Amino acid sequence: MFDFLRILYTRDQIADQVHRLGKEIDRDYAGREILLVCVLKGSFLFFADLVRSISRPMVMDFVRMASYGCDTISSGVVEMRKDLEFSVTDRDVIIVEDIVDTGYTLQTLYHRLLDRKPRSLKVCTLLDKRSDRRVQIEADYVGLSLDEGFVVGYGLDHQEKYRELPDLYVLEGSPCVDKERPI
Ligand code: 5GP
Repeated sequence: MFDFLRILYTRDQIADQVHRLGKEIDRDYAGREILLVCVLKGSFLFFADLVRSISRPMVMDFVRMASYGCDTISSGVVEMRKDLEFSVTDRDVIIVEDIVDTGYTLQTLYHRLLDRKPRSLKVCTLLDKRSDRRVQIEADYVGLSLDEGFVVGYGLDHQEKYRELPDLYVLEGSPCVDKERPI
């Protein structure tokens, strides 16, 4: 069975926003080294493009989070599958997310990192889906917004498919299967 994909944002629109985010981060972090944290797997393409749009000194690290529930709706139960290798203590840290939806994943990661006493902690997300938000958490840097729908492409998947697509699409008519959903 084939899924139906409707284009949401083209690769050129994405590139424009990634460039803008890089410049905003450059402006805000003058004279400081940044620790950029990629939230696997969905952020990997955004992260790769973003780090090349930033001109400040940086180091990078990677975490993996997973939530449980329907494959397109988060239940709010989030666990860390892979922790950072760097210490965040006294560092200027930016979490780089693919999408903030309910906010459960970001909230869990944000508080875990905050407990480790970074000098500063900010969030950069490619996509902000505000209509689904269940907890009060905001990204400091937002690439693009959307009101509803399940998005795939440019690193984001549905059941591990579509990550390789260079543009962003809304997946139409996706069935809701009650299963673990790796992020
Ligand atoms: P939240 O915990 O905010 O509901 O969801 C965060 C994570 O769920 C994201 O990092 C992403 O991996 C996944 N997610 C949420 N919404 C979408 C979506 O529309 N498309 C895809 N592919 N993943 C999503």
